Amino acid sequence: MWINMLKWRKDFGADTILEDYRFSELNEVLQYVPQGFHGIDKEGRPVYIEILGQLDPKKLLRVTSIERYVKYYVQEYEKTLSVRFPACSIAAGRHVDSNTTIIDVQGVGLWNLTKPVIELIRQLQQINTNYPDTLCQMFIINAGQGFKMLWNMIQPFLEPKAKSKIHVLGTKYKSTLLEVIDASELPEFLGGCCNCVEKGGCMRSNKGPWNEPHVMKIISSGKTQGCISRLEPNREGIMHDIGRCYSSEGAYVHRNHSSKSTTLVADHLAPVECKY
Ligand SMILES: [Zn+2]
Repeated sequence: MWINMLKWRKDFGADTILEDYRFSELNEVLQYVPQGFHGIDKEGRPVYIEILGQLDPKKLLRVTSIERYVKYYVQEYEKTLSVRFPACSIAAGRHVDSNTTIIDVQGVGLWNLTKPVIELIRQLQQINTNYPDTLCQMFIINAGQGFKMLWNMIQPFLEPKAKSKIHVLGTKYKSTLLEVIDASELPEFLGGCCNCVEKGGCMRSNKGPWNEPHVMKIISSGKTQGCISRLEPNREGIMHDIGRCYSSEGAYVHRNHSSKSTTLVADHLAPVECKY
């Protein structure tokens, strides 16, 4: 698994994709598959939201290609590892290395599974295996009869661990979401009170600690870089953070005593020598 992952990263160019790939069609793409990170959950994890029910694969593939979309998907993963998780770690004062995901599947059913959609899902699924354990929990909301049929087909192929993270909810999902996400961090259309008016709506706002200047200053100054700990795969092939470092910008990590030993940098996929 470890070897395969490193090989995939090299072949795909994942290490440099943040610098050398530009997804210029993003604005158009977001019209046909509304998605994005918005805010944090109560534990400080970034929240990813996708309105899958509004996915229009035909129009989507008119403005981009599957290949380009998959590259964008990888770039977003890399951004999460190198910017969103570290920013959330700094803001929360503890190590954050996973996200909460909300997928709105209103109107989604078997009829949506056209050939290009199946191909896209297949490719994205392969990519997911190279970023293990970055999902903490997923809420599938507005699941109607159509989606439930689809879900019954998919379920047997999911690993028990993955399945345990996914909660399929109908139209009464709001109280469940509010248990894990503060109303101020949750868009109005999902039962919260955020509307990001000044940013053109929550799905376009990219709201989160990764937009806070003082947090980004720490990340871009590289002061957290020296805090990268060594990562080694354990017997099960899962990478574990075995290093402990301090940030020189203590102000943002000293919220509580134990956070002093919080690693501020997201998990890197290659082993990195710890300088401290
Ligand atoms: Zn908002």
